[in-house]
Amino acid sequence: MIKKKAVLLFDSSTVEKPITYQLIKKYDLWINILQAKFEPGSGGKLVIEIRGDKKQIDEAFTYLEEQKIKVDFLDKEVSLNSTKCNHCGACVSLCPVGALQINRQTYHLEFNYQDCVVCGYCADACPVQAIEIVF
Ligand code: SF4
Ligand code: SF4
Repeated sequence: MIKKKAVLLFDSSTVEKPITYQLIKKYDLWINILQAKFEPGSGGKLVIEIRGDKKQIDEAFTYLEEQKIKVDFLDKEVSLNSTKCNHCGACVSLCPVGALQINRQTYHLEFNYQDCVVCGYCADACPVQAIEIVF
């Protein structure tokens, strides 16, 4: 069993294809949709986490290529240095998936790594460079 995060990019000819349904049904994959932005008739972007057998995942990505859907893998990770972080909250509202939250009891930043799609917005916004994108 392996886990991957990927961005699927759709154009106007592919935007209405039932891709996640096919990935689950044909390849027996576990799909978690982390972010979805679509404009009917125009295109869209889907950020997904996929879990499954490596062979099945490889076959699924071949299928996506055949369907003319562009795939970018998210091989980077976000590193939060909790010693540097002063819990100012500047990064929280910029996170498109709610992975960063200020705990209302402790007023400390909490980072849910599982939800992060490695967009980098938080790293750009942090005034003390407590967040880094690492490869
Ligand atoms: S990189 Fe930062 S802003 Fe982007 S999803 Fe991850 S935690 Fe949120
Ligand atoms: S912007 Fe930087 S210092 Fe402020 S809460 Fe986020 S990680 Fe911490």
